[in-house]
Amino acid sequence: MIEFQYSRATDVADALRQIAGNPGAKLVAGGTNLIDLMKMEVERPAKLIDITRLPLKQVEDTPGGGLRIGALVRNSDLAYHAPIEQRYPVLASAIKSGASQQLRNMATTGGNLLQRTRCAYFYDTTTPCNKRTPGSGCSAIGGHNRMHAILGTSDACIAVHPSDMCVALAILEAKVHVTGASGDRSIAFADFHRLPGDTPQRDTNLDAGEIITAVELPPKGFAKNYSYLKIRDRLSYAFALVSAAVGLELDGDTIKEARFALGGVAHKPWRALEAEKQLAGVPLSDDAFAAAGEAAVKGAQGHGHNDFKIPLAARTVASALTEAAKQRKA
Ligand SMILES: Cc1cc2nc3c(=O)[nH]c(=O)nc-3n(C[C@H](O)[C@H](O)[C@H](O)COP(=O)(O)OP(=O)(O)OC[C@H]3O[C@@H](n4cnc5c(N)ncnc54)[C@H](O)[C@@H]3O)c2cc1C
Ligand code: SF4
Repeated sequence: MIEFQYSRATDVADALRQIAGNPGAKLVAGGTNLIDLMKMEVERPAKLIDITRLPLKQVEDTPGGGLRIGALVRNSDLAYHAPIEQRYPVLASAIKSGASQQLRNMATTGGNLLQRTRCAYFYDTTTPCNKRTPGSGCSAIGGHNRMHAILGTSDACIAVHPSDMCVALAILEAKVHVTGASGDRSIAFADFHRLPGDTPQRDTNLDAGEIITAVELPPKGFAKNYSYLKIRDRLSYAFALVSAAVGLELDGDTIKEARFALGGVAHKPWRALEAEKQLAGVPLSDDAFAAAGEAAVKGAQGHGHNDFKIPLAARTVASALTEAAKQRKA
């Protein structure tokens, strides 16, 4: 049993004050990841600051025509929120494909962004892991790496970011609003999560002592032509082997704009911007989708057990594009 203190923050300013005064403290929201990590002694915070009573539970319209999602909006409330289902269905679909209903009832928007990798070695404190103990080595390189990354890896870490919700947020080009001792700032979603490089212990560009307050969605939601396709070992309660979020803007049977991101393949949701560009102005066709899938995995590298992810990711992108295009006839 690890001893830790517990306190409840009354508002954002109070949470910031408490976290600033105690570098060993951690914020706790739904607790569905952090408490597991504490049980396995991967995380050993001296204090838990409970932020669940902070007034960050609203989904509100923004003046620019988008939506602002409070950091404490629960995953299930967000997935079934009517404006999200109608205007950003790819986000609703991605959230519903994650975890289980019970977990989604607890998990929060901010916590989902900051959930940690599911690499088994990260959770096993008897094994070397650069993410858990910097400089100790990476057990997954040369070890069991079926679930691991094929893109954007480094010699220090080949872990993937496990979130489904974040794959959809990547194509929606959301902004993450944060606040800290030096004030408020917003981070483009593409810059929020990091590649491992030689600092795999840092998953994101959130600074120590900063709190996520909201996620903002721009107006473009790809409500007509979207898809979230998740390939996993079983149909529910499993993390993605590979997933793809797709949004298409069409002019008849021609693609005006295509956006897609892959999940389960990298340390962050993976946008393949060059592959997206090659679809602009192109008529819908299976060949174009297959070529975009191949382009999306350009430079991918397997590590043995996960070599199968390279062709799987290419096919997942192509299938998700096909699915998104089909909706124009629905
Ligand atoms: C069995 C199981 C299966 C799962 N399957 C899936 C799946 O298929 N797909 C998927 O996407 N997810 C899955 N999950 C993960 C789940 O979605 C996350 O655990 C959840 O989203 C985390 O949210 P939380 O509010 O519980 O975070 P917490 O556990 O409370 O916190 C996680 C981290 O975020 C920090 N934090 C939380 N809120 C804030 C904030 N506002 N500002 C700053 N820091 C903050 C905490 O300090 C902590 O470090 C699964 C989880 C489990 C246990
Ligand atoms: S892949 Fe990353 S998280 Fe997994 S053992 Fe290697 S360093 Fe640790």
